[in-house]
Amino acid sequence: MTRSASLDGGGADNPVAPRPAVARGPRDVVTPDLVARLTAGVLGSGRTAGHTPLTGEKLADLPEATPDDVAEAYRRARAAQAGWAATPVRERARVLLRFHDLVLARQAEVLDLIQVETGKARLHAHEEVQVVAMSARHYGFRAPAYLRPKRHTGAVPALTRALELRQPRGVVGQISPWNYPLELSVGDALPAFAAGNAVVMKPDTETALTALWARRQLIEAGLPEDVWQIVIGEGPVVGPAVVEHADYVSFTGSTRTGREVAQRAAARLVGASLELGGKNALLVLRDADLDRAAAGAVRACFASAGQLCISIERLFVHESVADAFTAKFVALTRSLKLGTALAYGAGMGSLVGRRQLDVVSRHVDEAREKGATVLTGGRPRPDIGPYVYEPTVLDGVEAPMAVCTEETFGPVVSVYRFADEDEAVARANATEYGLNSSVWTRDVRRGTAIATRLRSGTVNVNEAYGAAYGSVRAPMGGMKDSGLGRRHGSEGILKYTEAQTVAVQRLMPMGPAFGMDDEKYAALLNASLRLMKALRIR
Ligand code: NAD
Repeated sequence: MTRSASLDGGGADNPVAPRPAVARGPRDVVTPDLVARLTAGVLGSGRTAGHTPLTGEKLADLPEATPDDVAEAYRRARAAQAGWAATPVRERARVLLRFHDLVLARQAEVLDLIQVETGKARLHAHEEVQVVAMSARHYGFRAPAYLRPKRHTGAVPALTRALELRQPRGVVGQISPWNYPLELSVGDALPAFAAGNAVVMKPDTETALTALWARRQLIEAGLPEDVWQIVIGEGPVVGPAVVEHADYVSFTGSTRTGREVAQRAAARLVGASLELGGKNALLVLRDADLDRAAAGAVRACFASAGQLCISIERLFVHESVADAFTAKFVALTRSLKLGTALAYGAGMGSLVGRRQLDVVSRHVDEAREKGATVLTGGRPRPDIGPYVYEPTVLDGVEAPMAVCTEETFGPVVSVYRFADEDEAVARANATEYGLNSSVWTRDVRRGTAIATRLRSGTVNVNEAYGAAYGSVRAPMGGMKDSGLGRRHGSEGILKYTEAQTVAVQRLMPMGPAFGMDDEKYAALLNASLRLMKALRIR
């Protein structure tokens, strides 16, 4: 279908970001020498390969693990874990702080790798460096406090002493997606290591080099080599094998796969944290600063070409400011420079591959056929890269268009108008997902009050997603079908531990003693229970 100016809102194509004078390509980054260095010692008797969305070509041959290789990875990790857990927590934490410095010092290497593997703009690749550095710093400094043994008042005050300990789970099985390959691989593993665990990780094959790069840095920072095993291969083959041997599972990916992983973990009675999909909403209230809201919405919708679990796919705008906001938002969206160069300068890069391009095209084409209006975008840009799709704003979207309810995971957002805030909250909540939301208003108190009514794990007031995600002392994760458990903060590290209570009893046993009969003992207990309540012993 050709774009009609009147139907599609007209306007020029998104501009192309200028390329640097000396342009580097995937082959300059992923050299045979680098691949050999990163894959040394990685278990896998088969062969698989990653591809780059920048050109569509094969990037590198990688070792492919069989279920037997996964079992061997667990054997090695388990053997190494005991020594790692016995290493004082302060020393383990220092490894994270050294890793922090290495990542910042060598960021150019990993920015190249992330761009080559995902196709995202360099600025969005840098978000991963930022948040991994924040997590490494946070757990590097705070892990000893989170894990410190806690004294509790015992069953019988003065006679019972109770100590709460945090034991590592053992070997954590981690499964990661392709969209934030640094943050969602090592970022989630850092607290597991700080807590004394080993990790067997399955990254997505298309972005395995970034995870392997992070592993080399962490080993250089002091992590014993076998404590972090990486296994590569098909999700439905290697994924279940990772869950099969794990003492705890950390999964990030789609809700569909997450359910399957949760069922396997449940059958083995091991815990799992699940970071899953979203259909996130951004609310523009009538008193919002429209320029800031429009710029924030562009970040919210098009970072990593919308392939971000917390990115916004639904914009709810108060009807009194809807036309003014939409005009500003569409103008900014249309001015985003598209590009795939391994350099800063592009406002948006490529999608990760064919499957993602197909979903995005299908959602937009179906919406258009059923009567939605494309305000800007709405088509692929093969002149820039094989999987580049223009940032797209839709109006007039309604059920049962797929884009209305399903996660697109691409650079597509729909604008909806609302008349009052109760209606906006109800419509934002009318989804099975509950990952992230955003509220824009000049009245921060009102924005915060509305935030508490939104059923999502994080809510950003006057920001898109970075404020909540980057606040790594606070928990991050999904409500409803968006997940189970949290990353970041105390929950993000304590989930990788088993609580253990060690209670020491002194002087009197917890039963009849000194010739007391059962009835007298029960009466004594009743009296002491009443006394403890009166003394407000908690
Ligand atoms: P996916 O579920 O297809 O794959 C995720 C990982 O699971 C990959 O490593 C894959 O190989 C593996 N896998 C596939 N089948 C498996 C199976 N049967 N058993 C075990 N593992 C299996 O998801 P994706 O397309 O790679 O990632 C995109 C999705 O991830 C989106 O829905 C997005 O919202 C979500 N996501 C969520 C978060 C979050 O923090 N909540 C972060 C990033 C991405």
